[in-house]
Amino acid sequence: MSHAPELAPTLAVIGGGQLARMMAQPAIALGLPLRLLAEAEGVSAAQVIVDHTVGDYRDLDTLRAVTDGCAVVTFDHEHVPTDHLHALEEAGVAVRPGPGALVHAQDKGVMRSRLTALGIPCPRHALVSELSEVEAFGFPAVLKTTRGGYDGKGVWVVRSAADCADAFETAAASGVRLLAEELVDFRRELSALVARSPSGQAAAYPVVASTQKDGICLEVIAPAPDLSPELSAQAQQIALTIAKELEVTGVLAVELFETTDGRVLVNELAMRPHNTGHWSQDGAVTSQFENHLRAVMDLPLGSPATRAKWTVMVNILGGDVAAGRLYDGFPHAMARDPFLRVHLYGKEWRPGRKVGHVNAYGDDLDDCLERARHAAAWFRGDLGNESE
Ligand code: ADP
Repeated sequence: MSHAPELAPTLAVIGGGQLARMMAQPAIALGLPLRLLAEAEGVSAAQVIVDHTVGDYRDLDTLRAVTDGCAVVTFDHEHVPTDHLHALEEAGVAVRPGPGALVHAQDKGVMRSRLTALGIPCPRHALVSELSEVEAFGFPAVLKTTRGGYDGKGVWVVRSAADCADAFETAAASGVRLLAEELVDFRRELSALVARSPSGQAAAYPVVASTQKDGICLEVIAPAPDLSPELSAQAQQIALTIAKELEVTGVLAVELFETTDGRVLVNELAMRPHNTGHWSQDGAVTSQFENHLRAVMDLPLGSPATRAKWTVMVNILGGDVAAGRLYDGFPHAMARDPFLRVHLYGKEWRPGRKVGHVNAYGDDLDDCLERARHAAAWFRGDLGNESE
């Protein structure tokens, strides 16, 4: 029996990671009920979304049960099989983003050929199924599995035929194809994030700069410092064009390379809130998480305008110190910087794992960088041990 008035339709979310967890915050404010399919009891989002089921997103019956009675289903990750998404649509659930859009975030080969057909600038690329094709493509190159890669897994920089063995073995073992790309000489990585609703309304966030190490995002600066207005406008236009042409609903993050000769090239797409948009929780009028909810529910979007001149996001990654000092770090981090914004994911501490992030905003970029980096290093356990 329901004890609450039915204020809004229920939104189903597949996947219990930190992105779903951070969707819960604006969902509370908007009075939007969420129903979660979590991969295990106690995962990040299952800690905060009361209405959750534990099950396998690859099982259609499980997906049907979770979305039963929900007007809309959206995602924390991009791995739900396409056929299942079509089946849910046939059952009358609005799948946002839809399977036709999502495939471009699932399969880098499909993404490359579609973007190229749309005239969007991409690195030179070719699908390769044997070594001679990589040799014909030319070294140095980057080999990527078309599916299943994340956080730099499934990406190899190859400078000779001998370097390619790993990539071909991995692809053969997982039954996926390999994509060869030119090794882009880039100055830095940028991200252009937009939200788009089924009615076609779109909102573009300022283009940000991100720093990656071993394929994992470490830091984001919003907006990207010293980005020319032309490149900034071009990057936003690329993201808006992709969102419109691929009929993306919800948040679309377009990861780009800014080349040393002053061009932008698309690296890859994510169709969900993205690590490069976490700054918006504290640095924008409407966070990417709220705009994702608004977009998939086909509500008018909120302003993506910045609230501060600069916002710096630094990820808290599990370090070598056994357990970091997540909650223990609060007194120091909060006392040192009352303006710091802390976001923890309720995840178990493991080396290299993203367990949270901090945002620092203000008028001075160096000051924001110092504050955010210090706090993240403190939480990680890299600082302060000398006093113990
Ligand atoms: P993932 O799916 O793991 O995020 P990406 O395709 O984003 O994989 O690649 C991970 C990282 O590898 C990128 O952030 C970038 O630093 C580097 N990289 C990927 N493609 C290229 C390329 N064509 N040229 C140069 N570096 C690349």
